[in-house]
Amino acid sequence: MSDAHISLRSIRKTYGSAVAVDDLNLDIEEGKFIAIMGPSGCGKSTMLRMLAGLEDVTSGDILREGARINELPIWEREMPMVWQSLALFPFLSVRENVEFGLRMNGIKASERQRRALEWLEKLGLGDFANRSINQLSGGQRQRVALARCLVTEPSVLLLDEPLSALDAHLSVQMQGELKRLQRELGITFVYVTHSHSEAFSMADTVVIMNQGRIEQAGSPEDIYLRPATPFVAEFLGGSSIFECTARARKTGDFVLESIDGAFKCDASEFPDLEEGQHTSLIVRADQISVTAEGGWAENEVRCKVIGEEFVGALVNLRLETAAGTAVNVQLQQRDMQALDIEVGAGVTASWHPEDGHLINNT
Ligand code: ADP
Ligand code: MG
Repeated sequence: MSDAHISLRSIRKTYGSAVAVDDLNLDIEEGKFIAIMGPSGCGKSTMLRMLAGLEDVTSGDILREGARINELPIWEREMPMVWQSLALFPFLSVRENVEFGLRMNGIKASERQRRALEWLEKLGLGDFANRSINQLSGGQRQRVALARCLVTEPSVLLLDEPLSALDAHLSVQMQGELKRLQRELGITFVYVTHSHSEAFSMADTVVIMNQGRIEQAGSPEDIYLRPATPFVAEFLGGSSIFECTARARKTGDFVLESIDGAFKCDASEFPDLEEGQHTSLIVRADQISVTAEGGWAENEVRCKVIGEEFVGALVNLRLETAAGTAVNVQLQQRDMQALDIEVGAGVTASWHPEDGHLINNT
C-alpha cells in the first residue's frame, strides 16, 4: 500500500452506456499541486466531482490515508471545490458567503464571523466584507469563492478551471496568488485546467487525461521533455511527430525509417528498441533549424512553408513534408528575417539526432 494522501484505484464512472472515467489510477501526495489536463469531455470534471463526493463512483476505490472513503458524504470529506462559475450567493454579503462554508459544520455565529473575516483579510478582501457579491470584480469574486472553501481549513482543495472566466492579465496574477497560497498553507490542490501555462507554471505534477484515462502523470519537466505517448506530444502541441520503424544496423545502432526518409536518433533512452519496432519520433519546435537549402545535417527533411505566426520575439513556422507530415518550428524573429522566406517556399528542416525523443507505439 502506498503512503499517498489520496489514491484513486481503478476508478470507473459510467452514465448509461457512456464511459466518462475508465480504470483511472492516481496517487496524490500530501501538500502537492496536481494539475489535470486533457481535451474537453475526457472526464476531468467527473473525476473531481467523484473526489468531492458530488458523484458516486461506478466501480473502484477512493482512498484517503489508505482508508476507503467512497461512501463518505460530501461534508465529511473535507475536500471542497471551486468552480469557474463560483456558485456564490448573490443575496448574501461577501462575509456571509464565506461563513456559509462553516454553517454546515455547526460552528457558532461569532466564531464563524471571526474566521470569515480572517480569511477575507488573508485574501486581500478585508475591506469588502459587507459588500454584496454584485459589487465585486471577477477577480474579487474568485477570491471570495476561495475564501469560502479555505475557511473550513480543508486538507485538499479541488479546483475546476477556476480562472477560465477571468481576463488574461487577471488570470496570470491569480496564478501567482494561488501558487503562493498553496505553498504557504501546505494544502493539496487538485486543479483542473485547459491552460498549459497554468498547469506548467503552478503544478508539481501534471496529469494528462484522454477518454477517461490517464495518458501520463509526471513533473512538468518530464511531460515536456519526455511525453510518454503520441497523444501527449500532440496535446501539448509545438512538436513534430514522425511515425517510424526501427532498422538495426551492423554497428549496433538504429536508423528510423519513415515516409519522410531515414532519421538517426540517440536510442540510449530507449534500451529495449528492437528491429522492426514501430515508434514515434518526437522533435520539439525549438530544436528544429530551418535553412533554405539542405545537405548539411544528419537529420533533415524537405518541407513547404504552410504558415507563420508571430508571437512576440518568436515566430511559429508551420511546415509540411511532401508526404504531408506537419513540421512545427519555433524561430527567433531575427532568424526568420535572415531566412527571408514566404508561405509556399521550399525549406529544409533539420535537427540533431540526440534531440529526437522516441515513443514506443506498440
Ligand atoms: P471534462 O471536464 O474533461 O470536459 P466531463 O467530466 O465533464 O469532461 O465529462 C466526461 C464525459 O462524461 C463526457 O462525455 C460527458 O458528456 C459525460 N458526462 C458528464 N456528466 C454527465 C452526466 N451527468 N450525464 C451523462 N453524461 C455525462
Ligand atoms: Mg469540465
